[in-house]
Amino acid sequence: MAKLSVEDLVVAYGSVTAVRNVSFTVEDGEFVSLLGPSGCGKTTTLRCIAGLEGSSAGTIRIGGEVVAADGRDVPPEKRGINMVFQSYAVWPHMTVFENVAYGLRTRREPAATVDAKVGEALKMVGLDGFAARYGTELSGGQQQRVALARAIVTSPRLLLFDEPLSNLDAGLRDRMRFELVALQRRLGQTSLYVTHDQSEAMLMSDRIILMKDGEMIQSGSPRDLYDRPASRFAAEFIGNANILQGDIVRAASDGRALVSLADGLTIEGLFSRPEAVRVSGAILVCIRAESIQRMRDAEDGPNAFDAEVTSASFLGPVVTCLLRIGGLTLRAELPARTAPAAGETIRVRIEPDAVTLIPNG
Ligand code: ATP
Repeated sequence: MAKLSVEDLVVAYGSVTAVRNVSFTVEDGEFVSLLGPSGCGKTTTLRCIAGLEGSSAGTIRIGGEVVAADGRDVPPEKRGINMVFQSYAVWPHMTVFENVAYGLRTRREPAATVDAKVGEALKMVGLDGFAARYGTELSGGQQQRVALARAIVTSPRLLLFDEPLSNLDAGLRDRMRFELVALQRRLGQTSLYVTHDQSEAMLMSDRIILMKDGEMIQSGSPRDLYDRPASRFAAEFIGNANILQGDIVRAASDGRALVSLADGLTIEGLFSRPEAVRVSGAILVCIRAESIQRMRDAEDGPNAFDAEVTSASFLGPVVTCLLRIGGLTLRAELPARTAPAAGETIRVRIEPDAVTLIPNG
């Protein structure tokens, strides 16, 4: 049974519907992210699961128990969840120990158990030796670790994260992403994580739920969303994509198709989903910038083209190039060691399986 199940959740504020019929599950031990642009309803969904917000319709179950349905809400403290916020919410007038011990003490756990569990939680988040410090004596990163220790110390059924790393500087945020996910895996802690940052969601999640305008757009593993975006929005929100207009020339039942582009160019590709396969009509063609590969001059094969390099910008491991192929301009990311200079004409190819065909909706 799923640790969390959300069925047909609707949240309306007057005329604004913040969440529209959202349904998903989080399995035991899974790390799932709600990803989407600002205002898409991810925080509202999370707050409904926490019990901090009421829903207009739908059912939420945690550990199989109904915690919200038909306006009947179990209060937050009885849901077996903990939440980590963007604004650490560490109590400044308490020591680190007292901050972390709070949840155990309200459960009246024996002093020896509190000592042992707090010590273990502080060790896990790398705050050994900080127990006696006050909240005001900690850096932002240390406060976020205290918030994390406080959230894991009671072994909740479900841990909810609301953009917890957004206030940290770029370097620390990057480190904390790896640390947090390593901790989550070690504890097998079922987690739901809200972020608008696609690389954060890609790096940390077993599964991503992509949202837009209060609705779920697509859900799948990071790889699935990246390789097989089901809509223009999904293709553009995650990674660098070239999106072209095309027309199907012929399609096979295995999902492969030949598509005509502008200027008599054709390209082979694969439909984003089996149910999306069409035999005719307009289609969107998604080509990831790094799926364009340089080949030897005059080499041939499917999806091989001559390309004029109109610009080349060095970014360290890759060079971002703008390529003119017929009347089309494509962005490519080529490994720095084989990258061309602006003005060169090169031969490129795109693996047909890396060309995603998206129904033009
Ligand atoms: P962000 O990343 O900016 O936090 P979000 O995806 O988490 O965005 P929500 O905070 O869930 O989005 O908001 C979804 C929509 O609901 C927005 O249009 C927002 O303006 C609206 N909304 C949220 N809370 C309320 C409220 N209390 N009253 C009225 N409208 C609200």
